[in-house]
Amino acid sequence: MGNSGMDVLSSISCPSIEVLQAIILSKDCSTLQSNLQTFSNLKDLELTIIGSYPGSRIPDTPTVSKISRITLSRLVVTFKAASGPNLTTLSLLTLFCSTRNVKLSHEQENFDWPSAISIFAETVEELALEQQILATKSHVRVKSELSHSRLSYPRLKSLKIDRLACSPILSSIVAPALRKLSLTAINGFTPSAFLAFIQGSPDIRILRLTGIYMAITPPFSTTFPPLPTAIEEIDTTHHGLPILNFLTLKSLHTLRLLGVFQSKSGKQVHAYSEPSELHLSPICKLDLTILRALTTLDLCVGNLVLQLVIGLAEALPLLIRLEVLSLPRTHHNTNILVDILVENMRQGGTWAGDKAVLPRLKRLHTKDYPEWESLLMLLAERNRTAHIKGEKKGNETVPLEELNLPGLPNSFILERVQLAMAGKFPSRNGPQITTTVGCDDCKLTRSVCEDPNVERTFEARSSCGRHTLGTVHITANSSGYISTSSHQTMSD
Ligand SMILES: [Zn+2]
Repeated sequence: MGNSGMDVLSSISCPSIEVLQAIILSKDCSTLQSNLQTFSNLKDLELTIIGSYPGSRIPDTPTVSKISRITLSRLVVTFKAASGPNLTTLSLLTLFCSTRNVKLSHEQENFDWPSAISIFAETVEELALEQQILATKSHVRVKSELSHSRLSYPRLKSLKIDRLACSPILSSIVAPALRKLSLTAINGFTPSAFLAFIQGSPDIRILRLTGIYMAITPPFSTTFPPLPTAIEEIDTTHHGLPILNFLTLKSLHTLRLLGVFQSKSGKQVHAYSEPSELHLSPICKLDLTILRALTTLDLCVGNLVLQLVIGLAEALPLLIRLEVLSLPRTHHNTNILVDILVENMRQGGTWAGDKAVLPRLKRLHTKDYPEWESLLMLLAERNRTAHIKGEKKGNETVPLEELNLPGLPNSFILERVQLAMAGKFPSRNGPQITTTVGCDDCKLTRSVCEDPNVERTFEARSSCGRHTLGTVHITANSSGYISTSSHQTMSD
């Protein structure tokens, strides 16, 4: 409903309506409150409230009578152009205090988030908070983290804080049943507040920490001993990695590392036109028990083409349990990540021991095409013995069972790759197609380019539409495009 929504809302009675979306002026909130009583089946409400609420008194939650309290399964409230005392905007929210799934969005940095969310403390299970405009200041001054006493949110399972200072919020909440915590593009992040919060939420399984820059880029110290956690999956950037050393992560199996946008001066910036970089050296500094538990490492989050990835060769030997690896595409023609991987795996040999590189690797995703002859040699070495029937030797590396590429190579290459994956020696005799026109990716896959006049630069690898159709999944017995959703991320 548009701006005249209140006229309609006040004149109709719709007891069977379950979903309502409305934009109203804040002065109409009290009218809305009385009219909503007629929507007895309302389950899902999305409200955009424009302007400031004129009243000055917040009704205390207990004084909201059972009649006026509306039990929703989902509530989304967006405050726009709201100024003046924050407390006045909260009075409407008390109507919906028994909602399980709540999302609040506000424009202002100084919105009193702890008070707003405390209204829902008893019943809320999923809570998402978002600031509509990303603060331009790199570091928001956090008022006083102790100004709010901690309030228990006994049913809260998922907490998502997006683009606002999270420390005052984390410091106001105890969420013993929390399973998923997502902190994104945070300005006011203090490690101590984060760790104190984690301590009260021992059941967190999924942690997303992105956009943490300034606060923990320089070394920080805390008095915390490593906290026991049950965290299984983490999404973060290389800037967020150091804080993991303050957690015990015995259950961690999946780490998704996002590239970050970095200006030439080395300072973190929000401008998304800047080149993106991924540094893997912070991985090497993690506790070895974290690295040894890791089975999945995903460096492709967001499907970025990265300007620079540093430290892959150094990180690989530490990942002795890794079964799944996803490598992003890099911009330059040199140091292609999948080629670095293949070279290192071949150097490590096929015997699982100190030297083997990724001895448990079964599934490889790469956004670049590998150099085929090296890959075929690797597969010949790794997969040949593994496919021999009979007694398995425990000290051998496992075969690479799945290869996921940005597109299909020509059929001769594909056939050789599949033969090698099946543990057979692929023939070298066949049509040696070399393509001289078209994009770099078509040359690499020996394909006929859809864009033969593609503009070529010395540095960057060119690509045509053929290589963006999806992901090609190759095993010894099958090949073909898979749906993109198979590459899961934590984004909702
Ligand atoms: Zn092409």
